[in-house]
Amino acid sequence: MADKKWIYLFTELEEVEKYVGGGWDNVLGLLGGKGANLAEMTRMGVPVPPGFIITTEACNAYLKAGEKFPAGMWDQALIALKDVEVKAGKKFGDPKNPLLISCRSGAKFSMPGMMDTVLNIGLNDVTAKGISELTKDERFVYDAYRRLVQMFGSVVLGIEDEAFEDPLDEYKKKRGYKSDTELKADDWKILTKEFQAVVRKQKGFDFPQDPFEQMRLATEAVFKSWNGKRAIDYRNAASIAHDLGTAVSIVTMVFGNMGNDSGTGVAFTRDPATGEKILFGDYLLNAQGEDVVAGIRNTTPILLMGKELPEANKQFLNICATLEKHYTDMQDVEFTIERGKLWMLQTRNGKRTAQAAVKVAVDMVNEGLITKEKAIMRVTPTQVDSLLHPQFDMAVKQQATKEGKLYAKGVNASPGAAVGRIYFDADTAEKKAKDEKQAVIMVRPFTKPDDVHGMLAAKGILTSEGGATSHAAVVARQFGVPCVVGASDIHVDLDKRVMEADGKVVTEGEWVSVDGTTGEVFMGQIPTISPKLEEQLELMRLLDWADEISATPGIRKAPEGWPTRGLQVWANADYPADARRSRSYGAKGIGLCRTEHMFFEQIRLPIVQRMILAESSEERTVALDELLPYQRNDFEGLFEAMDGLPVIIRLIDPPLHEFLPSQEKLLEEVITMRVKGEKKGLAEKEDLLSKVEAMHESNPMMGLRGVRLSIMMPEIVEMQVRAIFEAAANAAKKGIIVKPEVMIPLTGHVNELKVIQPRLEKIAKAVMAEKNVQFPYKFGTMIEIPRAAVTATEIAEVAEFFSFGTNDLTQMTYGYSRDDAERNFLLKYVEDGILPMNPFQTIDRDGVGRLMRMAVDDGRKSRVDLEVGICGEHGGDPESIEFCHTIGQNYVSCSPFRVPIARLAVAQAAIKNKVK
Ligand code: ADP
Ligand code: MG
Ligand code: MG
Repeated sequence: MADKKWIYLFTELEEVEKYVGGGWDNVLGLLGGKGANLAEMTRMGVPVPPGFIITTEACNAYLKAGEKFPAGMWDQALIALKDVEVKAGKKFGDPKNPLLISCRSGAKFSMPGMMDTVLNIGLNDVTAKGISELTKDERFVYDAYRRLVQMFGSVVLGIEDEAFEDPLDEYKKKRGYKSDTELKADDWKILTKEFQAVVRKQKGFDFPQDPFEQMRLATEAVFKSWNGKRAIDYRNAASIAHDLGTAVSIVTMVFGNMGNDSGTGVAFTRDPATGEKILFGDYLLNAQGEDVVAGIRNTTPILLMGKELPEANKQFLNICATLEKHYTDMQDVEFTIERGKLWMLQTRNGKRTAQAAVKVAVDMVNEGLITKEKAIMRVTPTQVDSLLHPQFDMAVKQQATKEGKLYAKGVNASPGAAVGRIYFDADTAEKKAKDEKQAVIMVRPFTKPDDVHGMLAAKGILTSEGGATSHAAVVARQFGVPCVVGASDIHVDLDKRVMEADGKVVTEGEWVSVDGTTGEVFMGQIPTISPKLEEQLELMRLLDWADEISATPGIRKAPEGWPTRGLQVWANADYPADARRSRSYGAKGIGLCRTEHMFFEQIRLPIVQRMILAESSEERTVALDELLPYQRNDFEGLFEAMDGLPVIIRLIDPPLHEFLPSQEKLLEEVITMRVKGEKKGLAEKEDLLSKVEAMHESNPMMGLRGVRLSIMMPEIVEMQVRAIFEAAANAAKKGIIVKPEVMIPLTGHVNELKVIQPRLEKIAKAVMAEKNVQFPYKFGTMIEIPRAAVTATEIAEVAEFFSFGTNDLTQMTYGYSRDDAERNFLLKYVEDGILPMNPFQTIDRDGVGRLMRMAVDDGRKSRVDLEVGICGEHGGDPESIEFCHTIGQNYVSCSPFRVPIARLAVAQAAIKNKVK
């Protein structure tokens, strides 16, 4: 072990690279971000004060050995220090010309919670005298010395800040000083002594005078801080591995507080809020590093530095440009100017807002700094998401929080900002929104399927129960309604029509503001900013590039006849307006149109009910004939909106009872009428009740629905297919290119398809003949029952396309009823790690995913050009999207609002899995 190299000079980057086998990521792993970048800047010829790095391996060895330096490490540190002494022309601990150093922590990932930096190491009673003589500036020296005692005391020895701050304040009061700048050399000298006394009193030993002891203790403190509570908590929250360790950088001190030709500052090479290409940051004349960040003195904008320090400023601008070019990303830098000489002390990729992330990425492609692929990998799907939802004005929000208007916090279920008056049930919410044009926030303990009309009418949704996958959350995301769920501090009183949290009562009709991006709920109205995709030119550009990359032939390795381009993005859209939005967001088809939504509309529902309750096939056909023109109209609008693109229309899927009044409600009404002796209408009600009772199923999810319903009552789907093809024919005659695809839901056995599909195709052909037009069409099925996935070879002999309905497929594969699971145990399962994630949010690759892969492989055995997609909610989830890419699907289909996110995710999947 003694032979092992634990220490690298800033000038030894080649050796590091050799040792880790190349790769910047590995270098970062060994040297930490700060150290690696200091070494890299040194190699580039950027002025960095001489120094060296103690590796993360040394840290790990130290911690593993029970807090003992590994053999050889300290000797190597002393040798490295010698090298630094030569470069700096000073000697550590030398009474006449002493070297001072800083001891800085730096892990692979930038990480708050680690030990703070200690500056001015090497000062003691003797060296302080030496530098005073050398610099003829006693004030500066003793200011630096007392800072060392103070920082060393608090950071390394763990003494509370007040133990130093209090004597300083007292001293200033006694002498009548208002600010630190008024203190003179003698004042700092006295305070240095006082601070040393503080150390003695608190720790029972003297502040170490030996510079080597100072360096050793500081290094150990950095190592130990890796396992400090703050650091562990942060790593847990940010999913950073606990075994990386931190490195230590030892850096020659440079001083920005040596007069008015000196200074220090921090800057971003571009504006981290907007991404604009202008330098952004602050500096201070005659100050030491931490003063800028600490905010004790008023800083000057970096753009003005040229006035006070023209030479250094010019050099600084050049270095910023060089660094950007080198790292090909926006940099966040720290620097110090000592008597006109510029020193760079840190550089790293700067953190930025979503807006800036997109702008910087696109600008850098235009500037020739990065490739389109790199730009696409640099923006996250979540960032795209946040750019498309209305957002609160941050400043106002902060102000509101200060004023105590933050009402409660819950789960951020669906992003975006919503402001409205609260209403506690779906009917009222819908009425207020539709009739009175009010902005509405629907508030419920939790929501159910029959609340959907209220949720759709609302600007925002708030529930006190449920998690990220509760009904409210899922519906809200689907329709892009901002939503906070599980705000458990809120008590909703549906009788009194109020909600209460922490003693604060909000009554029905009063205003609240809901931030679905953060999960916060505010009382009153907070102004929002509403972004539009077509106004975000950089984002549009980026997404166009994403499409370009996804469409590259050969980007996916695939068996003969399978798609070799990346995935396409289609949308789930039920109405022409949704379809138009999807298209403007960049969808290349409709992957799912749910026809039954059309049945729920007010004028149609009575006809639908008549159709369901019909005693004979003839009676049913009469009702269906009435519905046909409505459906045809809807579909025509859809085909027009999607001119030239495929449109998948799913035949009726839910069990019929969903279109009828609930059994409980009917029973209640019948009993009330009987009790009150009302005769009028009673017989009809009783009749309806008995019919609804007769249709009752104990598990409707697994009952008469989907293709089974079509087989039992073929008239409904026959009408639907007629409506689809008449609409397509009408549109085609207007010159629109139509590509209808009819999707049969819930197939479990190929024979089901064999019964129904030919019957429907006959209608399709008949309509085309009647209307005398021809166009391409497909008949296919959803794969949402495990048996269908397992028998995909047989099914694909009949079906011309597959679409994974991953919600049902997940339910049936796990044997979970989704609503029950999420209400009763699923969240606990995820929390306790029994399941690695919620399978309704991200595809369970090992189970459900395996079935999907099998279905694609086997399906294409019968039909090599089988078109395969996904229309479940997972189609908008980036991780699930990547999985869909790897199993060879043709497209993913998601809600219109998620299309831009999916476009990015699809390209990222293609890039990540590119054939090399
Ligand atoms: P952080 O990780 O908190 O940014 P740093 O190690 O970067 O901590 O140091 C904190 C401050 O101290 C920075 O502003 C930096 O400029 C300053 N600093 C660190 N080392 C030196 C040095 N050798 N000379 C002058 N200033 C330094
Ligand atoms: Mg720090
Ligand atoms: Mg720093």
